Amino acid sequence: MVENQKSKEKSFNAETNIRKKIDYFNARYIGKTVNDCPIMQKSLYLEDNVYNFCCIGSKSIPCIGLIDEFMDKFTKEFFVNRYIDCFDELQSKTCRICENCAFLKKQKFIPLKYDDLYLKTIGFGTFHRCNVGCVYCGDITRNIPDVINISEVFDRLISECLVNSETQIILANGEPTIHKQFEEILSKAFNFDTKIQVRTNGLLFSDALYKGLHSGKASVNISVDSGKKETYAKIKRVDCFDIVWKNIKKYRETGGEVQIKYIIFSYNSSKEEIEAFVNKCLEANINYVVISAELYSLRHRIECDWEFGEKEFEAIFYLNELCRKHNIYVHTELYFTLEEQVKRFQILRNKIKKRKIESNL
Ligand code: SF4
Ligand code: SF4
Repeated sequence: MVENQKSKEKSFNAETNIRKKIDYFNARYIGKTVNDCPIMQKSLYLEDNVYNFCCIGSKSIPCIGLIDEFMDKFTKEFFVNRYIDCFDELQSKTCRICENCAFLKKQKFIPLKYDDLYLKTIGFGTFHRCNVGCVYCGDITRNIPDVINISEVFDRLISECLVNSETQIILANGEPTIHKQFEEILSKAFNFDTKIQVRTNGLLFSDALYKGLHSGKASVNISVDSGKKETYAKIKRVDCFDIVWKNIKKYRETGGEVQIKYIIFSYNSSKEEIEAFVNKCLEANINYVVISAELYSLRHRIECDWEFGEKEFEAIFYLNELCRKHNIYVHTELYFTLEEQVKRFQILRNKIKKRKIESNL
């Protein structure tokens, strides 16, 4: 009883503090034009060493804290404090965080509201073990111990009232389906009525995920990156093309959201490969494709023997065109730098010119 009373007082005090901070913060920026990002206030991404406001965009993602201090330090108040600190830093001319990120915008300040403080996306990128070995994946298959207890972190976020039915949990980076807490996390998310997306290589079929797809509570994103068996084996370094497509078909039978991802680079950018991939999607009744570009390894590692050039930019357009022709929805996740965006635009312009010339012949 006494404990209960204490905890109520604690959360009342925390709410009062946060409200005061928000009022002060809003008063400092109201009516001004600011550098802002819609993702920053609404997402949390946990990695092996740190946890951040996002997992995308810039080389210098704003950090919230060290992962091994999460359970000791993290509260809603701490999150708001770090958000305000980072927001302040973003306004400085010398700021390096979020540098070159396409999501960073100059816009009129939108006041922060206490009732809007919940997370739209929580990404657990802490799975670091995998049952395949994609060439572009670095040393993800290291057998390193878990740094956090995902289930406990989830409980903490719920108790801090940062999770609701609008929240989407993303399980990624490493293979979630082989994690010992996989089913526990799924059932926790389903019980709490949050959405959950599992990013998997699709090799291990999961009944829990199948049920989640059936009920509409889960979605799955499976990275296949190829249309042919040999290419799959070359990229994934396992010979499991047929098993993965069998699992994809089974997941899709539920009518749930099954996204198939194709990460383009020189190993898989030929027209024949892309056509074979789209045919596999049609066979499996897939209506959602995610197109990405293998640039992470190319930017961060020196030993890659593949490339991303004009042919790969063309492949992005070709895959897009083919999917649209077959009424497959396409989502692109291309975190291009400014130069890459310019290059892409030039190629598109040349394609349109060429088409116009051909149609006039
Ligand atoms: S601006 Fe980009 S890097 Fe910064 S928080 Fe937003 S998405 Fe992340
Ligand atoms: S499936 Fe994902 S985690 Fe596994 S090796 Fe490939 S990229 Fe890495």
